[in-house]
Amino acid sequence: MSVRFSLLASLFSLSLAASAGCGAPVNLTVKSYSSDATFAVGSYLLTGNQDAILVDGQFTKGDAEKVVAMVKESGKTLRAIFLTHAHPDHYLGLDVIASAFPGVPVQATPEVVAEFQAKGPAALASAKSNFGAANIAEKLATVTAVSDDKLVLEGEELRIVKLSDGESPSAAALYGSRQKLLVAGDLIYNRAYLWLAECKTDAWTQNLKNLRSLGPIEQIYPGHGAAPATAAIIDENIQYLATVPPIFQAAATAADAIAQVKQKYSYTGGGLLDYSTQIYFSACKKP
Ligand SMILES: [Zn+2]
Repeated sequence: MSVRFSLLASLFSLSLAASAGCGAPVNLTVKSYSSDATFAVGSYLLTGNQDAILVDGQFTKGDAEKVVAMVKESGKTLRAIFLTHAHPDHYLGLDVIASAFPGVPVQATPEVVAEFQAKGPAALASAKSNFGAANIAEKLATVTAVSDDKLVLEGEELRIVKLSDGESPSAAALYGSRQKLLVAGDLIYNRAYLWLAECKTDAWTQNLKNLRSLGPIEQIYPGHGAAPATAAIIDENIQYLATVPPIFQAAATAADAIAQVKQKYSYTGGGLLDYSTQIYFSACKKP
């Protein structure tokens, strides 16, 4: 059943609620999985009474298998897998997960699907050669575009908030207004080193500021770092984005920049800092 089932499903659950004389929406709960401290990538299982939606699919095969176990242990029926953005730490494990749940669609916004299709094959080959073919999924998952601006889980709506240039060229977060929750993808990190390799830190800051008009947010499920976080982490991300690029700009070498950032911020995700600082120095740093 695809996420397109959402309208039918919500009509169905509305009619069930009406016939039962009770309009109470389902209470979503969120189960979290994070890979180890190197990248601290988050995958989230949003569960209702019977059904679930998984958000993001890890980098390594081993982590993807642990996400499969989390879904199975929940006892819920997985209805859809949603990819927030086309960075390989969030999608290389998706084929392992999708293979464990045949018929469950893997979906993303059309912009993210296009980026995934353009960059995925090279990212897969590079990950196999850098991290060992045994640790990386054999192939990429098939990711299709959502046709709606929301996902619906047992009548509970999650708005798909589209983002452009920032941590990645395109992305989406999921916002549940009634429960005041945001599954942020890499729009928000929780005390994990931010991936600054896309050279778009000002646009990222603007995306974070735009959250102020979204509605109340109390729980944040970040792309990297511990979950859930509170809304205070949004300002911490904005502050990090104002502080670290000038450090990079002034430092003579990537190693020097990394040491300065580590002294200032005692965060998880050391691998994110190491890799993204090196890329920043070759791709983003102004002469
Ligand atoms: Zn990421």
